[in-house]
Amino acid sequence: MLVLQNFIGGEFLDAKVANFIDSYNPSTGKVYAKIPDSTEDDINFAVEAAHKAFTKWSKTHRSVRANIMYRIADILESRQKEFAEAEVRDQGKTITFATNIDINRSIYNFRYFAGYLLHMEEKASILDGRAFNYVKRTPSGVAGLISPWNLPLYLLTWKIAPCIAAGCACVCKPSEFTSVTAFMLCSVLKEAGLPDGVVNMVFGTGPNAGQALVAHPKVRLISFTGGTVSGLKVNTTASMHLKKVSLELGGKNANIIFEDCDFENAVTTSIKSSFSNQGEICLCGSRIFVQSSIYQKFLDAFVPKARDMIVGDPTDPQTEVGALISKSHMEKVLGYIELAKQEGGVIECGGGRKELKGELCDGYFVEPTVITNLKPSCRVAQEEIFGPVVTIHPFETEEEVINLANDSPYGLSCSVWSQNGSRMRRVAEAIDVGTVWVNCWLWRDLSMPFGGTKKSGVGREGGEYSMEFYTEQKTVCLAD
Ligand code: NDP
Repeated sequence: MLVLQNFIGGEFLDAKVANFIDSYNPSTGKVYAKIPDSTEDDINFAVEAAHKAFTKWSKTHRSVRANIMYRIADILESRQKEFAEAEVRDQGKTITFATNIDINRSIYNFRYFAGYLLHMEEKASILDGRAFNYVKRTPSGVAGLISPWNLPLYLLTWKIAPCIAAGCACVCKPSEFTSVTAFMLCSVLKEAGLPDGVVNMVFGTGPNAGQALVAHPKVRLISFTGGTVSGLKVNTTASMHLKKVSLELGGKNANIIFEDCDFENAVTTSIKSSFSNQGEICLCGSRIFVQSSIYQKFLDAFVPKARDMIVGDPTDPQTEVGALISKSHMEKVLGYIELAKQEGGVIECGGGRKELKGELCDGYFVEPTVITNLKPSCRVAQEEIFGPVVTIHPFETEEEVINLANDSPYGLSCSVWSQNGSRMRRVAEAIDVGTVWVNCWLWRDLSMPFGGTKKSGVGREGGEYSMEFYTEQKTVCLAD
């Protein structure tokens, strides 16, 4: 049995109170690791370690910081297979997705922000020929970084990389469901020569360790990715201390398919945007709107592809859909399928738990499920299901579909499929979300701002936006 320890001040330590949380392999339904159920005492200890490290790290030359980050990326890359396999065991995702997306992008997070750091420039101006103004940027302090279970290492490193590039120190609280790759990362950080205490990892639950981290007075900023309900709690606690907060929250994203699209590409990519990572990506397009003239043609192409997806052993490179994160999450997803039936939905394919044999017989597998005949306003089409379940709705006009897409409490992302240039731009600009993909999905340029509107979050991260978050900017005005 794998037993995790916290990583504080460069040392692996047991939590002060020796309580543990069971961590399950979602494919087998069996406990395979024990996670420390850390408390406020552990958080306090970690924040002190981060605070101490911050003094020196914040003054370390940027080329030194960048070199360490490049080394972290190189070591991660040399252990890519091991990390991908660990993510599969811990999260239930497929080995193909873990390798190509999770671990690949984790490596890139460090490389990108190391490079960014070396090329940063500051603004300067001359005021009326009499005074020289410039911006002095300083790291903000100790950050609390809280991450979810769906893309464990990828989203954690998306926070750690800009944080340490900016010269901040941090205390991280990964999801209790997926702590293993975060634990493995600690040895990589040590091997790469990151000074002790710059990154600290405290494992445990949101209400205990997470809440204590958000409430700690010496933690100046919080970067949180997770559900909207938890995000609201985090925001409430953080605002009591006037902390800087970045919230990346849930989504219920529209995928709009116009009759003038590249049909093959739209269908193939929509299969990915619906069911990749078992539909457990905040950016999945779970509300599909198809123009009525091609509605039936789209169903005839999409449904058989969804039905034929290989659901099963996530360690097999042929597998396309792995296991959901937990039994309770699987039950929630199945509950939404039942609700869809009550709301008058037609289950075009899937609709139930996927029963597998042998070691996987207790795994949390759900068939890719396509539902039609639902009103876009019903609960199944409005609430975030976060599983391999999509609803498909017909629409007539551009104006109608813009209204339908915007009729959501969320505003994270949207996909648009059309080959008409002016329509692409018109629709992209009219949808109230943080990211619009036109004729693609999940492509990410890390220099672009990332975040959501409405209940999908507050703030933007990526490139200069992350640097703004992790630093304070001071204007210095020098007169003769
Ligand atoms: P949760 O909100 O349940 O948890 C996210 C993290 O926050 C976990 O580490 C959790 O701890 C912790 N947490 C929970 N409550 C608190 C609290 N009161 N104070 C401090 N920390 C807390 O989300 P999930 O892990 O279930 O992730 C799925 C959600 O994340 C979906 O809604 C998805 O859309 C969203 N998400 C958003 C993304 C974006 O970029 N916008 C990207 C990826 C996911 P623990 O669970 O260990 O108890």
